[in-house]
Amino acid sequence: MSEYRTKLLIIGSGPAGYTAGIYAVRSGLSPLIVSGYQVGGQLTTTTDVENFPAFPEPINGTELMERMQKQCQNLGVEMVNDQIIEADFSKNPFLLKSEQHTYVAESVIISTGASAKKAGILGEEKFWGFGVSACATCDGFFYRGKDVAVVGGGNAAIVEALHLTHFAKSVTLIHRRDSLRAEKVMIERVLNNPKITVEWDSVVEEIYGEEQPRSVTGIKLRNVKTKQAKDIKLDGVFIAIGHQPNTDLFKAQLALDEQGYILTQNNTKTSVAGVFAAGDVTNPKYKQAVIAASMGCEAALDAETYLNNK
Ligand SMILES: Cc1cc2nc3c(=O)[nH]c(=O)nc-3n(C[C@H](O)[C@H](O)[C@H](O)COP(=O)(O)OP(=O)(O)OC[C@H]3O[C@@H](n4cnc5c(N)ncnc54)[C@H](O)[C@@H]3O)c2cc1C
Repeated sequence: MSEYRTKLLIIGSGPAGYTAGIYAVRSGLSPLIVSGYQVGGQLTTTTDVENFPAFPEPINGTELMERMQKQCQNLGVEMVNDQIIEADFSKNPFLLKSEQHTYVAESVIISTGASAKKAGILGEEKFWGFGVSACATCDGFFYRGKDVAVVGGGNAAIVEALHLTHFAKSVTLIHRRDSLRAEKVMIERVLNNPKITVEWDSVVEEIYGEEQPRSVTGIKLRNVKTKQAKDIKLDGVFIAIGHQPNTDLFKAQLALDEQGYILTQNNTKTSVAGVFAAGDVTNPKYKQAVIAASMGCEAALDAETYLNNK
């Protein structure tokens, strides 16, 4: 087991982690990024990104993240391909561990992201990124004039469904119960929107489609009360049953909200001095790459101030 010692350890290699690395190295902090299993983060699971500034043409998500990684490398950010499994923030320097290494760090930026919860539907995994998405803000634009479905019945599903009506020809909201769990005003908006049809008491049993090019063409739906099944032809399925922040290993170390997101104050400060958090891991609402990147910048500047005052 080898040991790394650093002034600033950045956990995660999504837009938040890489941006933190870029700012920290330019402040002379010699940061070390531990990339995690998903090098480049969530954007590597998508195809076209059309809303990251400075790219007038759509850019592939993996390419965008490779560019950020390259920028880090060119500036001299050290990177280790590793996954943190243990953290001890009870004393400074902080001690973190993976299966192979220990990391001793004077300050830490946590940018481990949040994962969209999957519904476990047959075909969901196969078409993920090819007609199945968990982000209407990101992918809704690609469904202009098309038919889509949203799976879920809470606030998130309602927001996704309403957002999709700006592009799609029709939106089918599929909920396993007979009422929606959201603010009354939001529910009324859904029920009064002519583009939205709600399939109550229903579950999606299968998402299916074409192999070449891989794309969704329909779903098989089952009513849980009548047990009747039917097919709906459509072009996209949005899974909106919530996100899981990747914070299990920090549960005993940091203040988290009831959903497990890291609580921050004065921008990126966590409940432990010297530990900062940025990106989706702190953000139950705005899960977007540009926001994660801007928080990564803030966290690096906050870490610099902390280390200067130390
Ligand atoms: C399919 C899809 C399409 C999207 N499209 C868009 C889009 O078009 N535009 C847009 O702005 N946003 C889009 N998003 C949202 C965007 O990807 C996220 O908001 C953004 O990636 C969040 O960045 P982050 O750095 O906070 O976390 P992430 O990108 O999730 O990165 C988290 C990083 O932490 C690492 N990690 C996790 N646990 C550990 C650990 N224990 N030890 C070490 N490392 C760890 C992971 O390996 C990963 O590198 C999309 C998301 C998805 C899923």
